[in-house]
Amino acid sequence: MNLLALSTLLLSFPRFTPGKPVQGIQEDKATGETFMHQDDIVYRRRTQRSAMKCHQRCVWPRSEDGLVNIPINVSTEFSVEERTVIAEAMQEFVTLTCIQFIRRSTEHDYINISPADRCWSYFGKIGGKQQLGLAKNGCIYKGLIQHEINHALGFIHEQARNDRDKYVKIHLEYVTAGEQGNFEKVDSNNLGLPYDYGSVMHYGPYDFSSAPGKATIVPIPNASVPIGQRIGLSDLDVKKINKLYRCNCCSTVLRNRRGNFSSTNYPYSYPKNVTCLWLIQIPEGKVFLKFHVLDLQRSPNCASDYIRIYDGNNRNARLLVDKLCGEGQLPAVVSSGSMMLVEFVSDEAVASKGFTASYAHVICGGTFTSTHGVVTSPNFPRKYPPNKKCLWIISAPAGSRISLTMGFFDLEEATGCNYDRLVFRDGSDISSPLLGTFCGKTEVPSFNSTGSFLRIEFYSDVVSQYSGFKLDYSMILPS
Ligand SMILES: [Zn+2]
Repeated sequence: MNLLALSTLLLSFPRFTPGKPVQGIQEDKATGETFMHQDDIVYRRRTQRSAMKCHQRCVWPRSEDGLVNIPINVSTEFSVEERTVIAEAMQEFVTLTCIQFIRRSTEHDYINISPADRCWSYFGKIGGKQQLGLAKNGCIYKGLIQHEINHALGFIHEQARNDRDKYVKIHLEYVTAGEQGNFEKVDSNNLGLPYDYGSVMHYGPYDFSSAPGKATIVPIPNASVPIGQRIGLSDLDVKKINKLYRCNCCSTVLRNRRGNFSSTNYPYSYPKNVTCLWLIQIPEGKVFLKFHVLDLQRSPNCASDYIRIYDGNNRNARLLVDKLCGEGQLPAVVSSGSMMLVEFVSDEAVASKGFTASYAHVICGGTFTSTHGVVTSPNFPRKYPPNKKCLWIISAPAGSRISLTMGFFDLEEATGCNYDRLVFRDGSDISSPLLGTFCGKTEVPSFNSTGSFLRIEFYSDVVSQYSGFKLDYSMILPS
């Protein structure tokens, strides 16, 4: 889903109506047992309302292994599809932080995620069964679910921070009558981390606005800085969780359309005994990742230091590149969706220089990792679409080679193949040695790569579409 579509959806979410009782919550002002505050957070005790800091009792306990196990129950009233989205939202916490959601059996304290008329959560751990409500119609999106889970972990809205006036101007004059309480500042624990416009916990510019076009929150000094994303946890959201819960995690979230990253200390030796993760999530298309330098300790089967690349946001996703080490070939891969996870592991032995990598997005393409398979032009055997640029990488295990055989080939004919064309490179990069450029009805010879990566590029222009191509590949694994 593109950003525009999502932001439209966000604006149409059911909002808390003042005075309207919230499903599943008994608001008892006499005892001060529960309070609605800031739209979707509920505070258990009156005292917490002013404290707002998640103290010892409010955070979930850490076990001896350093993990924070949180028992959770997801209502079976959600459909299989809804439960899948909820699981995916939770999976990102599990992958990038030391928070582990475990299925609740008999534990006393747990989160019960169930359908509600809106999205809401308690603030921090309250003890016993604590509800987290998700409206089936409007809350089943990764970023919204993560927002509510983050409340349950003890996080407030970003624009409620005590230092927020340095970063945003709140226009109370444009806030719908009765909703001003949602914009209060609190005595927050900022964990020594910077204000985060990109946080999944930040309100959007028009939240609770009384009139169209009148922003209630304006970033300063640059009013055009985007706020209010609900795509997913930001890099600082993850760093805050890891700090509050004292996780021994080294995780980075990359959300720009393109970017670079390197191993810690690069170009100096990376730290020993670390596991670091980079989650790349781009707004649309597929992630194209390439390495510029790769220099890791060499070991048999890369048992010591290595890189792994996953086709998704967690370690259960398909491996695009399994353990890679030494100073071998530079990997490049294309994800099947908008997310990719890069894992770097070092042991206690020698450390090397590390790596640098960059990513961008592609619309068409993918990575082939099976020992043999078929690559075809889009729509094959029907005509390929105009103006298409595709990039496929065949990624074989280290030490393998790849053999290509063309089964069918029919592209637009042009001198020098300047229009529609198919290009093969002996490696993963655009600068890897050219194996050949083909167009028309040319007989394409069979090829073998010299290394474990092979790059296939396909280009079509605006005019004259043909049936395209179908080729078979197979990996020649090391004996
Ligand atoms: Zn909230």
